[in-house]
Amino acid sequence: MRPTEIEAIRQQLPGWLEASLPCVSRGKVAAYIPELSKAPHAALGITLLNTMGESATAGDCGLRFTMQSISKVFTLILALMDNGEDAVFSKVGMEPTGDNFNSMLKLELVRPGIPFNPMINAGAITVSSLIHGDSPSEKSDRILQFLQELSGNAGLEYDLGVYRSESETGNLNRSIAFFLKENGVLSGNVEEVLEVYFRHCSIAVNCADLARMALVLACSGTDPLTGNTLIPRRYVQIARTFMTTCGMYNASGEFAIQVGLPAKSGVSGGILTFVPGRYGIGVLGPALNDKGNSYAGVHLLQTISREMNWSIF
Ligand code: GLU
Repeated sequence: MRPTEIEAIRQQLPGWLEASLPCVSRGKVAAYIPELSKAPHAALGITLLNTMGESATAGDCGLRFTMQSISKVFTLILALMDNGEDAVFSKVGMEPTGDNFNSMLKLELVRPGIPFNPMINAGAITVSSLIHGDSPSEKSDRILQFLQELSGNAGLEYDLGVYRSESETGNLNRSIAFFLKENGVLSGNVEEVLEVYFRHCSIAVNCADLARMALVLACSGTDPLTGNTLIPRRYVQIARTFMTTCGMYNASGEFAIQVGLPAKSGVSGGILTFVPGRYGIGVLGPALNDKGNSYAGVHLLQTISREMNWSIF
């Protein structure tokens, strides 16, 4: 009998991962958040999960790491669910920047001075300010609960070591937030908005958690394993589009050509991606390339996508 697709992937995956491992030595672990520099440089892991709940895993897929910018996809979705499209897009744009994720450059140069998109820090900080709740902890806990629901893992928690490390050293994000406040983009107390932002960046996951969240996006907002609709289809469509146009920093165009799947990466070395209607995928590889994406993680996804002919383009 011919193996099913997931069986075939299970057989090939260790070899594909092995072939990506040499990339690890070319990358660097992010150190600008001091706590992140402790991540295992040589780690590489992946989990793929299909709509039947069958998974294929390889490498260090059980390691815990913080979501960092991957959380921006889900705070955007929650802000859309809380406020609707018009309110959110009056505060943040829809275009890629071509600048670094933490750049302030265009806020001053281009009118109106709203962040270009919700995947860069200025945009994500603005989105954090739109999450409903009476206090920073209520807002943060709503984000955490949303991610617990999406991952099917009620045990997801903040990594408080990473949270404090970023909160103590995040001067650039602080500057961005004060600039946005000055321009009238951000309302509310700046430190409280930053608390919400740093907290959701510090939510700790493993590759299986990312794969399950990604599977919900792959299935247009409905968790195929429970049948529950967790996100309106339209907001998944918006999130998927941002992932495609600006989810992989300034390498989003290259990723679209080489891998061809919507994806979001974070400076911890995580990547969340999916094959529409079919697979949710979580990857970890803390050694980053010069664009800030996991060196080996991108290489591995490129191999799998080519072998399986998964590009959506
Ligand atoms: N918390 C990180 C920061 O604001 C997230 C960056 C990222 O993963 O791109 O710098």
